[in-house]
Amino acid sequence: MEAVSSGAGQEAPENIMAESIRAQLESDGVTLLVGTAVDFAGGTHCKGVPIRRLPAFRQAGMGASPSWNVFCADNGIAFTSSIGPIGDLRLRLDTARVRKIDDGLAWGPATFHEQDGSLSPLCPRGRLAGVVDSLAARGLSPLMGTELEFVLTTRDGGHLPKPGWTAYGMGAVVERRAFLVDLTATLEAAGLGPEQIHAEYGEDQFEVSLAPAPPVEMADGCVLARILIGIVAARHNMAVSFSPLPWADGAGNGAHLHLSLKRDDTHLFSGGEGPHGITAEGGSAIAGILAGLDDFLGVYAASVLSAHRLRPGRWSGAAACWGLENREAAVRFVAATAGNPHGANVELKVVDPSANIYLAAAALLGSVLHGIEAGLPLPVEVPGNPADAGDWPATAIDPDQATVLNALEASQLAGRILGPDIVEGVVAVRRHEAGRFAGTDPVETAQALRFAWSA
Ligand code: GLU
Ligand code: MG
Repeated sequence: MEAVSSGAGQEAPENIMAESIRAQLESDGVTLLVGTAVDFAGGTHCKGVPIRRLPAFRQAGMGASPSWNVFCADNGIAFTSSIGPIGDLRLRLDTARVRKIDDGLAWGPATFHEQDGSLSPLCPRGRLAGVVDSLAARGLSPLMGTELEFVLTTRDGGHLPKPGWTAYGMGAVVERRAFLVDLTATLEAAGLGPEQIHAEYGEDQFEVSLAPAPPVEMADGCVLARILIGIVAARHNMAVSFSPLPWADGAGNGAHLHLSLKRDDTHLFSGGEGPHGITAEGGSAIAGILAGLDDFLGVYAASVLSAHRLRPGRWSGAAACWGLENREAAVRFVAATAGNPHGANVELKVVDPSANIYLAAAALLGSVLHGIEAGLPLPVEVPGNPADAGDWPATAIDPDQATVLNALEASQLAGRILGPDIVEGVVAVRRHEAGRFAGTDPVETAQALRFAWSA
């Protein structure tokens, strides 16, 4: 282990902390430590070190090419004007989040730094932290929760044999109880605190929802939960797909994001004068999310498979509007009631698991801040199915991949919130996918990418 000193003959507190985390993990039998980063196309990558190198992983970091950010779903690389084959970033471990996740194995999230130690403008995790700081500077504190939908398959990616499937069914739980019990215990042991675990609508589709947390912690938790779901599935001789469209003729996987917001001690989505108790600033926050949808669909749901999921009738929120408990609206409002102990929140339904969760959360929070700063008024609520004719404006989202990428590329808001290098990179990886699968039957594309977003 390297000796690190603060320069005055005394160990810096963070070095002492890292050393005690290392010692604890080693005594818990950990041998291998991995630090993860998520690329612009939503894939998870990692570097691993023997546990004795935890302090070095935190301080100097491990080398990784800038191209790690632009690896594509098909393992292509989409170089940009700022990302080529030259150069090296340092992937630094966030030791405060490190934990043992399996026999001999520990995990932690990592951020990209330049060689001189400064945060890389390409780092999605660093960008999210920066957006959270911008909200905090204006007195705003968000909490976010996430829902992980996934489909179980055989080890080689086929359909699981089963007598039938009932949506949200007890039968599915009976059939997969060994997996589900193991998964619950594993998520609890990793400190992820799952809120709910249930069978979803689609065949072999399940969902885990995680409790509200500060945004970076939420995104880290989502990355870890995917890893753990994969580990447990493998233990039970299955594989797991986090594709937005695991099977061309099946249900889509969503990755809905929930957001509650406070200014100092005041909740912004309850206790106000607006509909359902929404405050004026809460209304502007919702307006900001909706105003930013065109700008950010290229971040939320822009893989080559995403448009197949983002359609009316699939509960993916394919309408640019909001409504109380409206599952066809991009923004589903969840009011503060006795039945909702977490309090009022908004759920952004359009996000799918091909999104980089850090960038999706940054885009959502940046849109909220934009709405509040511009004082945007809360749009009219859509109380019915937005696809039906009604007393509301037409709101259908056009999920076409080329359209959403052009909008992202042209968006000044996206450039401001995510930075031009990230925007260019996100557009590049998705255009690479578009080119690679142009003219390919969705059945084949779904098959080729079934495990592209599995940890
Ligand atoms: N599977 C749906 C989606 O793709 C969501 C279903 C639900 O409302 O939970 O977003
Ligand atoms: Mg669901």
